[in-house]
Amino acid sequence: MLLLLCATVTWAAEPVEQRVHERYGEQVARVFEAASTSAVAYERLRVLCDEIGHRISGSPQLEAAIDWAAAEMRADGLVVRTEEVMVPRWVRGAESVTLLQPVQRELAMVGLGMSIGGSVRAEVVAVRDFAELAALPDEAIAGKIVLFDTPFSTYGETVGTRGGAAVEAARRGAVGALIRSVGSASLNTPHTGAMYYEDGVPQIPAAALSIEHASWLHRLADSGQTVEVELSMSAEHQGMVPSRNLIAELPGRELPDEVVVVSCHYDSWDVGQGAQDDGAGCLMAWEALRLIQELDMVPRRTLRAVLYTNEENGLGGGKAYAEAHADELSLHQAMIESDIGNGIARGFRVDLRGLEEPQRLRAQGLLWELGQALAPWSEMVAGYSGADIGPSVAQGVPGLGVAHDSSLYFHIHHTEADTFDKIVLEDLQHNAGLVAAAAWVLAEMPERLVEPTNKRQRR
Ligand SMILES: [Zn+2]
Repeated sequence: MLLLLCATVTWAAEPVEQRVHERYGEQVARVFEAASTSAVAYERLRVLCDEIGHRISGSPQLEAAIDWAAAEMRADGLVVRTEEVMVPRWVRGAESVTLLQPVQRELAMVGLGMSIGGSVRAEVVAVRDFAELAALPDEAIAGKIVLFDTPFSTYGETVGTRGGAAVEAARRGAVGALIRSVGSASLNTPHTGAMYYEDGVPQIPAAALSIEHASWLHRLADSGQTVEVELSMSAEHQGMVPSRNLIAELPGRELPDEVVVVSCHYDSWDVGQGAQDDGAGCLMAWEALRLIQELDMVPRRTLRAVLYTNEENGLGGGKAYAEAHADELSLHQAMIESDIGNGIARGFRVDLRGLEEPQRLRAQGLLWELGQALAPWSEMVAGYSGADIGPSVAQGVPGLGVAHDSSLYFHIHHTEADTFDKIVLEDLQHNAGLVAAAAWVLAEMPERLVEPTNKRQRR
């Protein structure tokens, strides 16, 4: 009792900020310093983007990129392996949207990922969203191409139009679906992204127009003009093929079975270079381990970088990881993912969706301490962590999404403009430093975020 009281008094006398700072301040500073003077990740991202290029699932470039990174990681002194994942091979082919009436013009378009191919020529019915389509009679839609001209609010709120456009249009008898690109700004750049079909609903081709061209067609239709287009796509589904999750480790010195994951997705869409989505996130995860290795800092728990395959059109890598590591998830201290570009990061979005009280509160408290150790980059706000770690986070692993400034990200997301020239060296250095420092503290801290003696997994 006396001991307990003494401990309480000591605790109260010493603010938590000071405690964590004394414990980790010097190490965190070393990691940030090393990150801020290294151009290794920047140069590697350049090679990935410029010399290998975009990396859609099922493509030879993605597998070449995995082989290249695995060899470089081994040269860094990391312990490297790959885990097979079956992924879809979807090949875009030639595609176009031609405006035929009231004037002739090739439109700025990109087919939506996973769309079927096909060629349809029809009048355009322009609506704002699914609700506006629902209010139209069948005869206004049957045989037509529906254009969903949904203005961008947030990505989360707007992306539903992209995913469901073909299903909603085909359900009413339309022969093709067009959407206004899901983007926050445009220089006539169309944005691709995943769409889906539903059993029992006819499959029709689906494509995105640039914001400029979608709103042009909408204005024409609203003014009473007959708007006729030809949508032509030669996209093909070529079945499932093998790919790999790429895993690199710094084994833990005391608790090698306990793991802190830093991660990203390595595949991209087949436009641009996949620089921000998500080449940058992969270089942060990789660089975090390389920096710590280079500083001869040996983590108490194992640090594991996971470069997931097949996020964009299937989430195959993230699902396969959660399945293959199901028995080990309870030994995961936390999983970090960066997948929202390379804007400067202020901290993390904390995702404890798989935890219940009191475990959630315990993890929140310890993550707040982590934030203090990373000051001034202390932001720890409840939110969504990342798609790839999602299946593991749902099983009770604490998830941390890197909280990047994403104000410019959706200007270029999934477009030909997602290229290396937009990568700011100093931001990449800072972001890699933050990921490395957070991973280091999570690997070192005496406490588990989730108390291991209690049942923690919701299954
Ligand atoms: Zn992404």
